[in-house]
Amino acid sequence: MPRFNDYRHKKTKSQTHFSWIGLAKMVPAMLLLSLCLSGCRGQNPSAQISDVGFYFDTVVELRLNGTEDQSLIDKCFEKMGQYEALLSRTREGSDVWRINHSAGEPVEVSDDTAALITLAEKYYELSDGAFDITVAPYVAIWDFTDNPGKVPAAASIAAARIHVGFPLLHLDGNTVTLDDPRASIDLGGIAKGYIADRLKEYLVGEGVTSGFINLGGNMLTIGTKPGDVSWNIGIRRPFGEASDVITTVKVNGLSVVTSGPYERYFEKDGKIYHHILDPKNGYPVWNGLASVTILSDSSADGDALSTSCFVLGLDRGMELIESLDGIEALFITDDMQLHYSSGFPISD
Ligand code: ADP
Ligand code: MG
Repeated sequence: MPRFNDYRHKKTKSQTHFSWIGLAKMVPAMLLLSLCLSGCRGQNPSAQISDVGFYFDTVVELRLNGTEDQSLIDKCFEKMGQYEALLSRTREGSDVWRINHSAGEPVEVSDDTAALITLAEKYYELSDGAFDITVAPYVAIWDFTDNPGKVPAAASIAAARIHVGFPLLHLDGNTVTLDDPRASIDLGGIAKGYIADRLKEYLVGEGVTSGFINLGGNMLTIGTKPGDVSWNIGIRRPFGEASDVITTVKVNGLSVVTSGPYERYFEKDGKIYHHILDPKNGYPVWNGLASVTILSDSSADGDALSTSCFVLGLDRGMELIESLDGIEALFITDDMQLHYSSGFPISD
């Protein structure tokens, strides 16, 4: 696993210098003015900046085309730090930490946390309980971020079962109450997508028209690549090397999010124990799926749906995707077969 310091400050910057003065002489002043009024702070059509960091326990990468304004990237990293401090389950004082330590008392949370819980409720219902942020007691028992390979005692998982279930949680405005003092929440299945959406909103508001936000494989594109070329996003071969791509998908401005066991797991006695858990029994989901990739406008939707569909399995997951407008999916089964939803833009 890459370490924090290896990544936080790696920057690349490539730009061709361009003579704005020469251009200004060639085009009417009014045209130049109107271009800049549409938000072109630091813009340069052939510029590209990118940076890599480590947030949310994963490597994150930003790339912006058509600008050389590094402050945009710096601001995004600052926002990631703020979201991490708000939404981490383990960071003392975060909204999620305060909910989980509330001992049944009401807790006031930020608008972002309230919005995320509202969205999580929507996906709890849509997925018939497969997506459930109250799996946190199980997440804590398995501790996949720091577990070298110890399968928890079946009794401890069984004992946690009565403290899991979305109906234990109530949101009223910005007030969260857990009926059971031992219930808790984990936003790891949806937060990265939500944060990617907020970062894109910020960047687009600052006039960025091309780039991508990659939060640990949770990929959200902005516009197209320079020259109106689609982004060609690689979908990783499950359990392959990070650079081993099983297929690619061309998108413009869409989110491409994948959930798979290979992202966080250990192997014991030939069995893969991984971080996507079945809320009904507290064990990793073993249903013949190796990954689920979701294409959607909103990355929060994609994130919640990739986790939901992984838990639901191929048949029920595909049924859910086909019932939703504007969402497509690729399910990869253990035998490395690719199963596409009906509107998926399959590569030639
Ligand atoms: P990643 O975090 O690798 O992008 P996912 O989006 O699929 O992967 O989210 C998996 C994370 O979501 C787990 O690490 C855990 O924190 C949480 N989680 C696990 N099972 C569920 C579930 N059934 N519903 C909601 N969240 C879950
Ligand atoms: Mg997810």
